[in-house]
Amino acid sequence: MTTCPLCQQTVTRDFPITYEFNNKQYQAKQCSHCTFVFLDPRLTADELRLLYSDEYFLHDGADSGAHSASDYETAAIKGSVKFPEILGWIRRFKPSGDFFEIGCGMGYFLEYARKHGYAVSGIEYAELGVRTCREKFGLDVRRGSFEELAPEPGRYDVIFMGDVLEHLIEPLEMLTKARSMVKASGVVALEVPSMFNSLTGRCATVGMRLFGTKKKMTLPPYHVNEFTPKTLRAIIERAGFRETLIIQRIKPPSAITLRGSGFEKAVKKILHYPNYGLTKSLGVFGDRLLGIGIK
Ligand SMILES: [Zn+2]
Repeated sequence: MTTCPLCQQTVTRDFPITYEFNNKQYQAKQCSHCTFVFLDPRLTADELRLLYSDEYFLHDGADSGAHSASDYETAAIKGSVKFPEILGWIRRFKPSGDFFEIGCGMGYFLEYARKHGYAVSGIEYAELGVRTCREKFGLDVRRGSFEELAPEPGRYDVIFMGDVLEHLIEPLEMLTKARSMVKASGVVALEVPSMFNSLTGRCATVGMRLFGTKKKMTLPPYHVNEFTPKTLRAIIERAGFRETLIIQRIKPPSAITLRGSGFEKAVKKILHYPNYGLTKSLGVFGDRLLGIGIK
């Protein structure tokens, strides 16, 4: 029986994407009750270890791995264009104090927050990330998983998780833990991709459902959860925050990564321009979401 990790109901239907990893198939399911999309079965601890091992995660030029070490850093630098907007939102609610980042990668955002006056620290799973944080920026970063971190109740003013929640097997439990670690009126900010909320993603989903086809994803199953504005709001509310804010964001057309067939790339490129305008002007169809929970 498949249980929704967000609302614990057991009625689901197939969502038209699948993954394959380590000779195993993973089917995306959509909860019929709360619409949350998640991979089934959930990955085991051993599968996660393999998926995030340096040999796999950072294997240069691998077909199966997602990143090489240099790509990982290039992506970190490229991603810094969004820092002013994201930190700007956080600063509206909590302009100073103790700032903790879960999954701080190579430390670029943490360093940016430090420069803007926060007392920063973080936790990162990948050894390469931890090393870069410490050696390049001299940041206070622990190595490990947030799941295994001993909770520190009421310790921080701000906790940030960028591109983390979609990777977690127990996203609600971990968000609840993050909430427990901020002070009263503290802020937990989450940034996640939302590929099925964009015009392209919506068209693809409707088309595949209409024709009864499924898309087999080429990347390994790093994303075990897919958020929409509705389900991101739901998980923040369920974690017990007093106030919730969802901001829809979009990558500029120059920054999108095109994957898939020539036809898919063309459709994506053509739809991205009107999509960009709609997200910027009306705050809809964003391909990235920033969720803010206030304790
Ligand atoms: Zn559900």
